[in-house]
Amino acid sequence: MKLQEYQSKRIFANYGIPIPAGDVAATPEEVRRIADRLGGRVVVKAQVLVGGRGKAGGIRLAADESQAEKVAAEILGKDIKGLKVQKVLVDEAADVAKEIYLGAVVDRGAQCVVMMASAAGGVDIEEVARETPEKIVKIFVDPRMGLYTFQCRELAAGIGLESEFLNAFVAVCTGLYRAFMDNDAALAEINPLVITADNELLAVDGKIVLDDNALFRHRDLAELRDPSEETIHESEARRNGFSYVRLDGCVGCMVNGAGLAMETMDIIKLHGAEPANFLDIGGGARADRVAAALRIILSDVNVCAILINIFGGITRGDEVARGIVQSLHEIQTDVPIIVRLAGTNSEEGLEILAGANLLTASSLVEAARLAVKAAQSVLPDPQSGQAG
Ligand code: GDP
Ligand code: MN
Repeated sequence: MKLQEYQSKRIFANYGIPIPAGDVAATPEEVRRIADRLGGRVVVKAQVLVGGRGKAGGIRLAADESQAEKVAAEILGKDIKGLKVQKVLVDEAADVAKEIYLGAVVDRGAQCVVMMASAAGGVDIEEVARETPEKIVKIFVDPRMGLYTFQCRELAAGIGLESEFLNAFVAVCTGLYRAFMDNDAALAEINPLVITADNELLAVDGKIVLDDNALFRHRDLAELRDPSEETIHESEARRNGFSYVRLDGCVGCMVNGAGLAMETMDIIKLHGAEPANFLDIGGGARADRVAAALRIILSDVNVCAILINIFGGITRGDEVARGIVQSLHEIQTDVPIIVRLAGTNSEEGLEILAGANLLTASSLVEAARLAVKAAQSVLPDPQSGQAG
């Protein structure tokens, strides 16, 4: 579960990380009042659960309260990467001298939390990570020992931070790590951590992603979830208990089981296309679940073919097949669907699918080949993953 910037920064502040004075508003009039209280010079920031708001026009500086009101009117209601802006954060504007990146994330490979810092912080950090990864320094935190001060100093040295900021930086690192651990986060990030013209460190942006599996320990945080701030496919996936990750490709995948879903994505790539999503619908074969999964996949306009890969164990193939056929009565679509069904009661299942004129495959390899071919007939170059 992602927290909004203002929620993340309030948590950071509880751990001693300096944040700008500010408040949240839902109308331009409120923005004006807050800006007035903050002395006029403010930054108005769209509160939507996506990155890159700055580049999408969701972050605007204002010189006084009238201008703040005006830019707020432009940002509120605006669509940013498919999400409608319903709230803005109004922060006292910072005089930015330098932008640092600082983040904590679970590193599954290293089986611990890794803390990362870069002197090249700001809106282009993804590009830095891709093109000049040596500009990002990392330290690994032993979960039994916690974060040591010397490790924070190592980060500081790694990004060439001047010694006058060292103590403040160590405090921010320590606070970020504690905020991460105490709240069972999967990611906690400050980008940018700003050095101001007055030589202070200030967390201008904040992002926390909580581990959903630990939310039962954080009822107060779980209550912060606002379904109106999720995309349709996110809320639908959550309601149905699906694991769903949207990707950039064009072949939609509906699979029962996480390992099988990974395999399905791999085999699509092997055949020359890119998967549009990871989707594990889990056990059970009821039509409403199949229909929900189809709706989620089809809500992605890039999807130009769907591969349904079901391996029946406890799940019965005939039930899945009935679920697919029934849900296709509810959802009209021209997107070609290829089904691979194996395991328990798959023969009956395949008969049902054949009776409904659905394209089936006898093996996963064949299914992947057919799905990629179907996708390629729609798209000249499925590698690009762009369907216009
Ligand atoms: P993001 O684009 O969603 O990551 O939003 P950020 O909150 O990181 O804002 C994007 C960029 O806007 C930052 O990297 C800064 O360069 C700039 N910015 C944000 N707040 C301020 C501010 O108070 N003063 C100044 N001068 N720039 C700011
Ligand atoms: Mn940012």
